[in-house]
Amino acid sequence: MEQLKVIVVGAGMGGLTTALALRQAGFTVEVYDRVPELRPAGAGVSLWSNGVKVLNRLGLGPRIAAAGGQMQRVSYRASDGRVLCDFSLEPLIERVGQRPYPVARTDLQQLLLDAVGAEHVTLRANCVHVEQDAASATAVFEDGRRATGDLVVAADGTHSVLRGSVLGRLATRRYAGYVNWNGLVPQDPELGPATTWAIYVGQHQRASLMPVGGGRFYFFFDVPLAAGLSWNPGDTRAELARHFAGWALPIQRLIQRIDPHTTNRIEIHDVDPLERLVNGRVALLGDAAHTTTPDLGQGGCQAMEDAWVLANTLLTTNIGVEDALGRYEAARLPRTTEVVQRARARADMTHGIDPAKTRAWYEELEREDGSRILQAIGNTILAGPLG
Ligand SMILES: Cc1cc2nc3c(=O)[nH]c(=O)nc-3n(C[C@H](O)[C@H](O)[C@H](O)COP(=O)(O)OP(=O)(O)OC[C@H]3O[C@@H](n4cnc5c(N)ncnc54)[C@H](O)[C@@H]3O)c2cc1C
Repeated sequence: MEQLKVIVVGAGMGGLTTALALRQAGFTVEVYDRVPELRPAGAGVSLWSNGVKVLNRLGLGPRIAAAGGQMQRVSYRASDGRVLCDFSLEPLIERVGQRPYPVARTDLQQLLLDAVGAEHVTLRANCVHVEQDAASATAVFEDGRRATGDLVVAADGTHSVLRGSVLGRLATRRYAGYVNWNGLVPQDPELGPATTWAIYVGQHQRASLMPVGGGRFYFFFDVPLAAGLSWNPGDTRAELARHFAGWALPIQRLIQRIDPHTTNRIEIHDVDPLERLVNGRVALLGDAAHTTTPDLGQGGCQAMEDAWVLANTLLTTNIGVEDALGRYEAARLPRTTEVVQRARARADMTHGIDPAKTRAWYEELEREDGSRILQAIGNTILAGPLG
């Protein structure tokens, strides 16, 4: 189809990648976000090769390679630091044809915003609902403004207000049973090698250090906890020191080095896979369409795949907007449903929902030479739209 005008609500990873893909397809795109300043939630993100391939296809290959960390090995360790398994990522890269890039979220967002062009993004625009008729769709904002196009892409994240317009019902977020702390620290050999993703596991908890660009580690801690507990950023170090008492020296050092005021604390949620992603001229995309636990590191990568598929169905078919969006839904629903379900199963296994399964996983890691883990990651990547 030619000369479409697309309204994108949300300027996160999903909305900006969509805007870029649609602009490159020759469409007119307007992006709206409710925040006064774009600041991504969270510190880092691992862009697996399926996400990187979308960015490569959109011409951002050299920039994402420059922003990404050089992750060459994966090292699973017990809480006392003992190596359970340690293996190179090279066989995965050779199989899928592209290196993954862990990146700082601010770097990724800036890179996407520069590519889209900030002049196409309107901030302080809080979308409250969407309307549509036979020929157009309109995003309606809190202050009465309206933006009308041939379609609206709802990329408004996990708390999406537009999801209800597509589903005709509310979708409830489900607490996955654990809390995640994450942030960035300068790399230092005392924390671990600069090219290794180190994951310490024990007591149904995890502590992880992943290299990102700019000489930093993206770290996270996971602890199974009740939802809704009160917390104070100033107590973060003491709280982590309590949860990770007795863990290996690099983890103790990491806890002392984190900046409590820039460390994020997130109760991890997902949403049961939705029954549809599209209603007429309105399409859900990214976390609005499929909120997943981060246990496969695929939420953002799936948003990028969505963006690529959406732009292509609009570009390569000419029956009409609703037909093209139906094709987008048919392509993306099975893929994202499978990712959400698999990530949930992995979250449960990692965090002791069934303690016997978590114990079995720890034992499996001791027998692992990396091949089964790389096989599973490779299968997820190769099932994406760019292979
Ligand atoms: C702890 C953690 C770790 C993760 N790790 C990874 C990883 O390693 N790899 C990976 O691929 N993914 C990861 N993810 C998932 C990834 O962060 C999300 O999938 C991704 O951010 C989704 O992008 P999005 O654009 O759909 O939503 P968001 O990034 O949430 O963006 C939504 C945007 O919409 C705007 N908005 C919301 N409501 C409105 C409204 N009413 N009107 C206008 N604007 C609105 C918001 O301000 C925001 O800018 C992780 C998630 C978490 C929580």
